[in-house]
Amino acid sequence: MKRIKVVNNRLIGFNKQRDLNKAERVRKLIEEVINDIDFRNKVLKADFHDRRFIDESGNTTEITDNSIILEKLISGKEQYTGEEKDYEWDLRITLYRSITSEIGHRSKETIFTKKKKYRNLSDRFIASHWIHEYLHVIGFTHDYDRTRRRPYSVPYLIGNLASDTLESREFDFLT
Ligand SMILES: [Zn+2]
Repeated sequence: MKRIKVVNNRLIGFNKQRDLNKAERVRKLIEEVINDIDFRNKVLKADFHDRRFIDESGNTTEITDNSIILEKLISGKEQYTGEEKDYEWDLRITLYRSITSEIGHRSKETIFTKKKKYRNLSDRFIASHWIHEYLHVIGFTHDYDRTRRRPYSVPYLIGNLASDTLESREFDFLT
């Protein structure tokens, strides 16, 4: 099994030490979950209803084989950066202020997270959000209205599987 590294490649707007400390904790959680064998098996068995993948030229394809979805997930091949697959996730995160209700979004290779949500939500929640947005960075997409299949798209379903896996691990620590 290929071991993946996760790197906080570029952090913008993390003005306080506690913001940086949290980014490091979240980075470790993401690294833990994407290297977790149970998590990877969940991805291989996942029932995706939306498998669209947009390549760097803007062409949309459907990835029908879950093992290829998993391979893309661990490849570390971010779009818009010119990087090839290096099995290293480079997270580029910008914290921003806004009065909208969203937690964040992605623009090209950058993940945007609302500062207030970042500070108030749990490490696990932020890990799941960064994983979701990172799946956009590598090319996966979903519907932007609340369709029936949206929770079964690659970013939503994998983000939730990661959160579930981390939650069960927290439980392991307690018992
Ligand atoms: Zn999304």
